[in-house]
Amino acid sequence: MIKTRITDFFGIERPIVQGGLMWVARSGLASAVGNAGGIGFMTALTFPDPEDFRAEIKKCRELTDKPFGVNLTFLPTMRPPDYPAYIQVCIDEGIKFIETAGRNPEPYMEQIKAVNIKVVHKCTSVRHAIKAEKVGCDAVSIDGFEAAGHPGEDDVTTMILVPLTRDAISLPIIASGGLGDGRGLVGALGLGADGINMGTRFVATQEAPVHPNVKQALVDHSERDTRLIMRTLRNTERVMHNPMVDKVLEIESRGNTQIEEIAPFVSGLVGKEMLEEGQMEKGILAAGQTMGFVRDIPTCQELLDRIMADAEQVIRDKFTQVITS
Ligand code: NAD
Repeated sequence: MIKTRITDFFGIERPIVQGGLMWVARSGLASAVGNAGGIGFMTALTFPDPEDFRAEIKKCRELTDKPFGVNLTFLPTMRPPDYPAYIQVCIDEGIKFIETAGRNPEPYMEQIKAVNIKVVHKCTSVRHAIKAEKVGCDAVSIDGFEAAGHPGEDDVTTMILVPLTRDAISLPIIASGGLGDGRGLVGALGLGADGINMGTRFVATQEAPVHPNVKQALVDHSERDTRLIMRTLRNTERVMHNPMVDKVLEIESRGNTQIEEIAPFVSGLVGKEMLEEGQMEKGILAAGQTMGFVRDIPTCQELLDRIMADAEQVIRDKFTQVITS
């Protein structure tokens, strides 16, 4: 057992978080992570209608009696969501944890904190972590440059961000980006985090609701197979390399890019079809450098059992031996 501020914070057995994953983080995955001793977050925007989101929360409750949370991402989007409606569903349904991401959650804090939901803000810089603490967030998930999806515009790695964030704030910290095994967990704890967040690694699990080709692609690709798109829009996204990505980068290289020019390629609806149908060249898949050590497609239980066993072995075998007196 590894007990940290994060296991206490969520009331879970293992300091492992499955953060928001657009289209993927539904009840099946979140409950499987919870049942395996970690905590899963369902991504609210995956359900365009807040009532469908409510039904998914109820479904998750049927699948687990363990804690789970909800991810609310505030990034630019082609279909602007009614955030207060999603928050109201969380309140109605007794959700205890919300992971905010993409932008300062301050405009929504009054509504969320009125019922004492704990807010974990996922951010990509120390200054944003400081701000999160200031506006009343309860924990911070700090996302390094290695991460899938939107790692910010500063290009600072997890190795640097975690200790600097530890120095800057007193809230519990979840390290995110480049983490997918027991060695990463031990490393993150050593850097000052209280737990880890994994995204890409959880897409390659039995319970992730995506086509088997998507999972196999994560196994087949290496740490060198990601690219950064939408940098020209200051909305950088780390994705798995494919011909569609090259097309987007070619358009961006012409300069003065408008979202409309790349929308047919980057649209989440196109990506959703790819996840469902498994045509890996059809859309854009957010993926992190952790692909390098995604080598199989275990159940969440097997994955978390392995991460914890490996982490405990690293601590026992390595750290007890290197201290000589
Ligand atoms: P979408 O179809 O609305 O947009 C596709 C991509 O284009 C997204 O990366 C989005 O940020 C970007 N985009 C859209 N409009 C833009 C603009 N005006 N300027 C710059 N960039 C723009 O996205 P979607 O796939 O339906 O996802 C909905 C939202 O969730 C988006 O904001 C997306 O970034 C975000 N997201 C969340 C997660 C998560 O884990 N919660 C993961 C990936 C993306």
